[in-house]
Amino acid sequence: MANQTQNTPVAGKESSEGVEHFDAIVIGAGVTGLYALYRLRELGLSVMSLEHASGVGGTWFWNRYPGARFDSESYSYGYSFSEELLQEWDWKEHYSGQPENERYLNYVADKFDLRKDIRFNSHVSSAVYDEAKGVWSVILDDGYRATAQFFIPAVGSLSAGYVPDFEGIDSFKGAVCHTSRWPAEGIDLAGRRVGVIGTGASGVQLITEIAKEVGHLTVFQRTANYCAPLRNSPIDAETQKKIKASYPEIFQKCSETPGSFIHKFDPRSALEVSSEERLEQYETLWKESGFKKWLSNFHDVMVPGEANEDYAEFVRNKIRERVNDPVVAEMLVPKDHMFGSKRLPCESGYYEVYNQDNVLLVNVKNAPIECITSKGVKTGGKDYELDVIIFATGYDAVTGPLNLIEIKGEGGQTLKDKFAGGPRTYMGIATAGFPNMFTINAASVGNFVRSAEPLVEWVTSTIGYVRDNGYTHISATTEAEDKWTKHVNEDGAKILRTQADSWFVGANIPGKARALLNAPDTAPVMRAKRAEVAANGYEGFDIR
Ligand code: NAP
Repeated sequence: MANQTQNTPVAGKESSEGVEHFDAIVIGAGVTGLYALYRLRELGLSVMSLEHASGVGGTWFWNRYPGARFDSESYSYGYSFSEELLQEWDWKEHYSGQPENERYLNYVADKFDLRKDIRFNSHVSSAVYDEAKGVWSVILDDGYRATAQFFIPAVGSLSAGYVPDFEGIDSFKGAVCHTSRWPAEGIDLAGRRVGVIGTGASGVQLITEIAKEVGHLTVFQRTANYCAPLRNSPIDAETQKKIKASYPEIFQKCSETPGSFIHKFDPRSALEVSSEERLEQYETLWKESGFKKWLSNFHDVMVPGEANEDYAEFVRNKIRERVNDPVVAEMLVPKDHMFGSKRLPCESGYYEVYNQDNVLLVNVKNAPIECITSKGVKTGGKDYELDVIIFATGYDAVTGPLNLIEIKGEGGQTLKDKFAGGPRTYMGIATAGFPNMFTINAASVGNFVRSAEPLVEWVTSTIGYVRDNGYTHISATTEAEDKWTKHVNEDGAKILRTQADSWFVGANIPGKARALLNAPDTAPVMRAKRAEVAANGYEGFDIR
């Protein structure tokens, strides 16, 4: 496996009980965790980062499945904090693939010497707030213990993989894998009978890639998605130069858009222009790469209503054009949810896969998967014999990775219990009764790196403020949290992301409470709200 790192001791201060003490403990060495470690160290704090994997990268360490790549432009997705890093790193493709993305995060870890403060292969089992001492006590599966004043679980939003609890799952005699745990050595699929369950962004990327080598592919689809061409291409030397010369403008543009993507909406309504002009714009943008097709389109294409449905029909027709068999085409055309209400996958030849003779699409909406047998998958009374089953079944998002750790705050309350009805936070960052703990994953919106960077900067400068002023305790107040949670639920109900059953609202996990898991605000609004809170002396926080 590339870039695996053996455990090396991370230096902290020895406390009286022989437990190492740090100013801050960060969990996770993905995009957010690495930057949190960097910033906290810049503040002069002793920091330890605990990483479950054997290397850095988080999402880009684990998601090694064939086809995994950015859907956002590579140069809008890297860190912006270091001009030197920006100038040194050459993105090779407009939408970079997993191996390159993992290499990038390793390059960052090496450049800023982050590895020395990361303890790899470290699975955190619990983090408990010790009220008497005012510290977080963190315990690992291997018995290692450490304490810290500040606790930052940068565990990611989409890191707790979900495999449905199908009956007979353990009886299957072939190979089984979830997209987020693809082995570094790969899985031999050549000539084999492969089944893929799930057609979200991961499934769409994976299916397109593995269809090139499998003997036979069966795709079990519950919900058809609106997918659009990614149109990836290499970055030539001339373009590379231009990109490097225009990073300030690239990041400025990203900072102005709702989801921190590089694309700016057309302020016009799709309904205020003639149908010819509307179609012409749809067609022109369709030829463009990535998310531009909808994020530079008429603004109301991404708002529930008539314009959204008009664009949905345009996309449906694009799908129909590419699939030879009209029956299969109709199975692939989404009709049960609004365009953009689920995350929109980008693809590179996905629909043409269904024109291959060795590919079968099985609808498991009306006839759900009954069970997994020793030989394959049973649905609709039929047995599908397989050598390999791939679960592209998604994630227990946002709260899922936090729940994998027993996090206990004041009075022994667990975060899992507190969030049982959905996250209760203040700006997605803090939650009452869990002092000196900053969650980052419930506040991200859109382009992850663009939203994570300012978030980490806010959290670390808040920690700096607490320490510089001689305080030892910061916690969200219950009032601020109640108000924020009401805002998330009420304003969240109006946005596109809450209109379908997806991970955005926890609806993909049986039994999980339905609630918007991150913020309903745009990224600029979120940043402004945080800035205002800080300017008003950390309004909504109890600081002592
Ligand atoms: P996902 O979007 O949640 O998709 C999971 C798929 O599994 C869906 O098709 C779902 O069907 C299906 N499924 C779940 N349980 C099932 C069951 N019991 N029976 C049959 N089908 C079942 O997960 P994902 O594709 O891993 O993507 C998650 C998120 O990761 C994305 O939304 C995106 O934010 C991120 N991602 C990003 C990239 C990128 O940037 N390039 C790539 C991949 C993923 P239903 O739709 O009916 O629930």
